[in-house]
Amino acid sequence: MHTKVLIIGSGPAGYTAAIYAARAMLKPIMVQGYQPGGQLTITTDVENYPGFGDVIQGPWLMEQMQKQAHSVGTELITDMIKSVDFSSRPFKAEGEDGQTYTADTVIISTGASARWLGLESETKFQNNGVSACATCDGFFFQDKDVCVVGGGNSAVEEALYLSKIAKSVTLIHRRDSLRAEKILQDRLFADEKINVIWNSTVVEIMGEETVSKLKLQSTEDDSIVELETDGVFIAIGHDPATSIFKGQVRMDAEGYIKVKPNSTATNIPGVFAAGDVQDKIYRQAVTAAGMGCMAALEAEKFLSAPVKNLIDAIQQ
Ligand code: NAP
Repeated sequence: MHTKVLIIGSGPAGYTAAIYAARAMLKPIMVQGYQPGGQLTITTDVENYPGFGDVIQGPWLMEQMQKQAHSVGTELITDMIKSVDFSSRPFKAEGEDGQTYTADTVIISTGASARWLGLESETKFQNNGVSACATCDGFFFQDKDVCVVGGGNSAVEEALYLSKIAKSVTLIHRRDSLRAEKILQDRLFADEKINVIWNSTVVEIMGEETVSKLKLQSTEDDSIVELETDGVFIAIGHDPATSIFKGQVRMDAEGYIKVKPNSTATNIPGVFAAGDVQDKIYRQAVTAAGMGCMAALEAEKFLSAPVKNLIDAIQQ
């Protein structure tokens, strides 16, 4: 199958790229994976995606994006790309179903996923007191007591964000020092609503319908304590879904795809990356959608300037 624009991955970035590319008459093909929709399909209430006066559901929002991408002319394919070859053009991608896709441009929008502690109780209470995104779910914890797990920039930022909303915030970290930047640490320690519990891990999340308590284990002497709380935000890092692109496009040490400033262009002319796969700062549906739009516009521009692109490719 050949296309001018191959979109790999189907979250807000991918669908937005598809909508823009289709409306530019580029007849994009989107390989959606086996569970289309990305991270929003595992959330419930969404109140921060603009354009909706009432609270909407994450899975519903993704269905709408998929419908919109389809209705403007995107070919949506349920397949999983297992390998890519960006060494020459047209670019190639192999699907698990045995299909080979060739493309003049590629938009990578495979997203990232939050890391979890791996507790059974964590899965049980997801969306009922357990979250991995304070910006998304913090609002539901107004004047409540919440905990944040982790010691990196994300955990500290989540704690600072939540302290503006919640009654109290307890940061739980497994060591006796944070890995977050000093400036963030200073803000955290200066915030009177935030308390830190050091050298502890969460071993169980408890409650009836929603979270009411955490069981914490000391990393020093294994002793167990229970802590009352209304919610827990897990902020122990994210993993970008980039394993199939290793060695094909430039990435940072954590596997996020590197893009040029103010652009979605990767180091390979004609290959673009949009959304959480290249963004470890904002990680929002709306910012991913914005980057998807940018990627489609950049792909369109790339396709309309073949001579310049040939020179770029020779120079790279
Ligand atoms: P991170 O820096 O990898 O930190 C993860 C934290 O979670 C660490 O403190 C780690 O503990 C802890 N942790 C990991 N696995 C755990 C487990 N199973 N149980 C308990 N704790 C666990 O991740 P991040 O904070 O998400 O940041 C990722 C990257 O994005 C970093 O490069 C960061 O600088 C960047 N970032 C930047 C910004 C910003 O610039 N504003 C904001 C957010 C993130 P240990 O410390 O003991 O390993």
